[in-house]
Amino acid sequence: MRPASDLPFLGGYPESTLDQVRDLIARGQLAEHLRRRYPEAHAVRNDAALYEHAMALKSRYLRNAPLLSKVIYDSRLQIDQRALGTLTSVSRVQGAQLKAKREIRVAALFKEAPAEMLQMIVVHELAHLKEREHDKAFYALCEHMLPDYHQVEFDTRLYLTAKALEAAAVAGR
Ligand SMILES: [Zn+2]
Repeated sequence: MRPASDLPFLGGYPESTLDQVRDLIARGQLAEHLRRRYPEAHAVRNDAALYEHAMALKSRYLRNAPLLSKVIYDSRLQIDQRALGTLTSVSRVQGAQLKAKREIRVAALFKEAPAEMLQMIVVHELAHLKEREHDKAFYALCEHMLPDYHQVEFDTRLYLTAKALEAAAVAGR
């Protein structure tokens, strides 16, 4: 589905939902709405803490999934890109074996985001260790790791919308 041009992060959501968002924006309440809903920041401030955060989730829910060699914040993943996180796998021949090094990268803007939003991105990329496509099985796994997954994904899109509006306001000042 083509995203609404005024709400590029919210493509695929019903028009009635988009109208509610537009209403929040028009009343200048979007950022406050999110602050009230997600008051908690997180303490995952650097790559070492992010790796631990991901490994704790992985050992709880995906014990048998392939190993991860790296989990890092990446400032090159930008807010206007569709990928807020990535899972990459680099295969190398090591002796007689083919070894895959898997790494998760999380957009650096999630350092400042509410705790649930960071968790949502990490859960999403971890789920790709088992399910490649964004299909039913994939989202079932995401919901298993974060029961409010769909709501948090929507609210993360709201958060990105609020950030983009803030940046536009600063640029226009
Ligand atoms: Zn994905």
